[in-house]
Parts: sequence; C-alpha cells; structure tokens
Amino acid sequence: VLAVTAELEPIETLLVPATITQATVTHLRLAGRAGCEEFAFWSGHPLGGGVAVVTRAFHPNSSQEYGHVTVDDPNQILAMIDVVHEHDELVLCQLHTHPKEAFHSSVDDRGAFTDEPGFLSLVLPTFGSGGLSSAQAYRLTADGWQHVGCVADNGLLQVFSDVLYYGGDAWQSTDTELEQSTTLVGGA
Ligand SMILES: [Zn+2]
Repeated sequence: VLAVTAELEPIETLLVPATITQATVTHLRLAGRAGCEEFAFWSGHPLGGGVAVVTRAFHPNSSQEYGHVTVDDPNQILAMIDVVHEHDELVLCQLHTHPKEAFHSSVDDRGAFTDEPGFLSLVLPTFGSGGLSSAQAYRLTADGWQHVGCVADNGLLQVFSDVLYYGGDAWQSTDTELEQSTTLVGGA
C-alpha cells in the first residue's frame, strides 16, 4: 500500500515546510480544545541518505473513543492514498496527540498506518499545546517500534521557511513552531 516509487528507508532528517507544521499543529490543537486527541499524516519524497521532504499534510476527520482516537470512514484513507500515488509521494509520518504524556501505546503500535519499516510516528503530549518540539518520535523497524527521542533533542525535524517576506534588507520568515529548537534550513 505504502510503496509508490521507492522503498521507504529509515528517515534521520525530515525536512518540513513551516506552513505545514503550522497547519498541522493548529489542526491537532483544535480537537484538544474540546478534550479530544487528533490525527494527521504527512506525505512527501525520500531524497536518499536518510533525508526526506514533506510536501503535503492530511488532516482526516476523526472521532474520539475511550482512550484513543480513530479515523472516521476508511474511504478517506483510500482517497489519501490515491492523492499520494497521483503525486508519486509516500506517506512518511503519522502524528497524533495525547491528553497528557506522549508515548506509543499498544493501540498506537497495532493501529499505525502501515507496517512498512522506516515509517515515523510522532506523538504530541498535552493535546499539542507544546508544539512539535514537544513530540516524542517513534520509528518502525523490522523489530517493531523504536523510540527515537524527543523532537526538540533528536534533530529529526528540520523546519524550513517556505514563505518569506522582504524585511527591508533581507528575506525573512515568520516565526515557526520549531525555530528555537531546530535548524531553520536556508533561513536566518
Ligand atoms: Zn496514542
């Protein structure tokens, strides 16, 4: 299901446009305001050497059940896969929120989007209130899910400014979620 044009290799660096990080965090937090966990997916392209670039976010309709969030209507996942195939992308990463601590539950392990090694799962604590830098990252390996630490510390996500404005003498970006904790690719 996942493989489109390339095998997904373990991702060490995920380049993410700032507009996507902002939109996804906003989406995740919105459900949190109603006390609900929320889900998102990112697709994009592996660039080789353990680097991949995110080009699209999917914010599915979901519903809160006891202790976990489920994605409504499997057709929207099939439709997502259609879009991903159409653009020769791969689904690289899933993201979801927890009410309190971020961890990968047994439900998260079993209910992941794919069983393809290399796939990433980010879990944001406190309904995403701390942004992406507070997320715990997990990578699917042949031996199961591996915890790869907190996004603020592990350098996994590198947010780059995809919208710049001219600030008098230089191109500048608006502030992003991860600017304090990760390198801003190509930016100041
Ligand atoms: Zn979970």
